Amino acid sequence: MQKANIDWENIGFGYIKTPYRFVSNYKNGAWDEGALTEDDKVVISECAGVLQYAQTCFEGLKAYTTQHGHIVCFRPDLNAERMHDTALRLEMPPYPKDKFVEAVKKVVKANEAYVPPYGSGATLYIRPYMFGSDAVIGVKPANEYQFRVFTTPVGPYFKGGVKPIVIKVSDFDRAAPRGTGHIKAGLNYAMSLHAIVTAHKEGFAENMYLDPATRTKVEETGGANFLFVTKDGTIVTPKSDSILPSITRRSLCYVAEHYLGMKVEHREVLFSEVKDFAECGLCGTAAVISPVGKIFDHGKEIDFPSGMEKMGPVIQKLYDTLTGIQMGRIEAPKGWIEVIE
Ligand SMILES: *Cc1c(COP(=O)(O)O)cnc(C)c1O
Repeated sequence: MQKANIDWENIGFGYIKTPYRFVSNYKNGAWDEGALTEDDKVVISECAGVLQYAQTCFEGLKAYTTQHGHIVCFRPDLNAERMHDTALRLEMPPYPKDKFVEAVKKVVKANEAYVPPYGSGATLYIRPYMFGSDAVIGVKPANEYQFRVFTTPVGPYFKGGVKPIVIKVSDFDRAAPRGTGHIKAGLNYAMSLHAIVTAHKEGFAENMYLDPATRTKVEETGGANFLFVTKDGTIVTPKSDSILPSITRRSLCYVAEHYLGMKVEHREVLFSEVKDFAECGLCGTAAVISPVGKIFDHGKEIDFPSGMEKMGPVIQKLYDTLTGIQMGRIEAPKGWIEVIE
């Protein structure tokens, strides 16, 4: 397979069009077979449900080349399941889970020339998404939907080495109790844009959102779950009904427990405990784990002992083990790696 002529190490995280995408339409109560297409344009009614009332959701995962030269993706069944749950909460017809995985594999295979080579640090980002496509003017679910999957190559997340980030406790809320924080809905991101632009202007990389009801408990950032390490080496991840269940976070916790023999706690985390943790990281598909060096809270500063130079030792070990599993250097738990033939 002749690879596309791309400087893999220097592409960053932007949209680069690849030749093929998958499209399936839902009409008269059923999804059609769906097919690959080269047409990257979406044509829908000016009054489409997605345009008026934001009836849309998405997923994100990656394909990459392992040490042994296989093209694989990581636990796509969990993305299928999460999109299924998201769709139900948004009154959208769920896309069948087995067909979701099939569609992902088809698109990756068709865009094989754009799957970055092993060792480049780059990956092929996969974006499945779905939206209400027919006209809706009264507030109600659409009758017709489109499910699509496109891919775009993205560069290494930590270019020029890992640098811990500085974040702030946000004055905005991300997700209401009993709201939509636990699903991957576009609307959660629309309303987070002002908060992240504000944080960036103030010089912070990310927002830490607290629970809106009491503002005493840690929730997550705009697009990644928190993972903390206590001074005696226990992994702690915040639990709340309005946190998006990150597949990376769940995988890291499994690895901590079953590969590294660590103690793992998934529980409510008070903001007042955060100052006592030894390490802090953000988990998500994009970075796997991004270390946090400092948290600003209205003039007060929490400095983690792991510092601003490198990942803390426990987070580093978690990162190395999970990326080792993903890249085929360490044996994966059964069913985690989906090989694309
Ligand atoms: C997608 C997402 C994550 C990360 O989930 P992964 O499955 O690990 O990529 C975390 N938080 C939010 C709000 C997200 O939308």
